[in-house]
Amino acid sequence: MILILKPHIKPDSRQYQQLTEHLARLQNIELRIHQEKGVEQTLTEIYLIGNTAALSIEDMRSLPGVENVVRVSEEYRVLGRHKDDNRAAFFDYQGVRFGQDTLNIFAGLCAVDSPGNVEKMMRALRDNGQVCTRMGAYKPRTSPYSFQGHGKNCLPFVFELAGKYEIKVIAMEITHESHLNEIREALEKTGNPTGVMLQIGTRNTQNFELLKSVGRQQEFPVLLKRGFGITLDESLNAAEYLASEGNRKVVFGLRGMKTSIGDPHRNFVDFAHVPVVKRLTRMPVCIDPSHSVGMRSRGSEGILDIMHVTAQGVIAGANMILVDFHPEPTKALVDGPQALLLKELSQFLEDVKIVRAAYEQRVLRFQNVLSE
Ligand code: PEP
Ligand code: MN
Repeated sequence: MILILKPHIKPDSRQYQQLTEHLARLQNIELRIHQEKGVEQTLTEIYLIGNTAALSIEDMRSLPGVENVVRVSEEYRVLGRHKDDNRAAFFDYQGVRFGQDTLNIFAGLCAVDSPGNVEKMMRALRDNGQVCTRMGAYKPRTSPYSFQGHGKNCLPFVFELAGKYEIKVIAMEITHESHLNEIREALEKTGNPTGVMLQIGTRNTQNFELLKSVGRQQEFPVLLKRGFGITLDESLNAAEYLASEGNRKVVFGLRGMKTSIGDPHRNFVDFAHVPVVKRLTRMPVCIDPSHSVGMRSRGSEGILDIMHVTAQGVIAGANMILVDFHPEPTKALVDGPQALLLKELSQFLEDVKIVRAAYEQRVLRFQNVLSE
């Protein structure tokens, strides 16, 4: 059960003290307090964990300082959607809104190689009105002999160039908790010219210790990729690890499933799950067409498979697109075969726009079904 407090209730107030003293006397109930620091106000939620079946919603709602009470009926206690649950399905970061009704595009380099390529990429993004990108510094590779990413050494030039080209958010995978501090330090040293969305890759979806340390900070939002060989429920529980530790600025990323049934694509595209995740949870949903498809093949009409699956995700309501580009894919150090060319960026964005408009029309057409 979740008690959502009135926005003005502060932890040092008389009402708050009375409330928590009362709750502490409940038998077999443990309290967990979550504070959500927004731009204008801090919202406090008190989670009652344990034998809450005997508690009445009305009694709880009448307690001092309580605005609303949600009985958690399903799993995903923090991120899930529950009955009468009108908590937000969005968050703001660096002036950019990430929600279940917005769409943000993160085109960029799978792996940072040279400052020249980072600059070419970011210039193309700025020229096309984009404020987000992807830049991999820490790369999890199948072979220990493959390029592992430039790590912390590339962070200063990546962040400085982001500032120069007005990039507000960079999606960047981390594979170890120490990377968090490296990113924090590099941002400070360069004067915080941009923001970072921490990415947990598909190989680390169930690295619970990494999830806990990323969940314990609220400074950076997180993009959690779905595990490529586990159930959707297991991946959603991984997201819940982040939120239960305190960070609920989480975007859930679909990136295809590892199975030979997906051949010849790199992974079996799972974008049919966009509406499923939006129904089960309050997380915005990202699609990664590059790691799903993994190749630059085209359909018989001339459209790249990567653009086709992007369209499939967008028409199903995706809220974020993570997509690989490279100025010279044949020279890319990681995942060159799936990178789109800079000259394809405007075409890609235009295609997304067309499909997003179609999605919005579909939403309007079906809106009355929900209110019937
Ligand atoms: C990536 O986005 O660069 C990546 C490694 O993705 P995934 O974890 O989905 O394989
Ligand atoms: Mn990659």
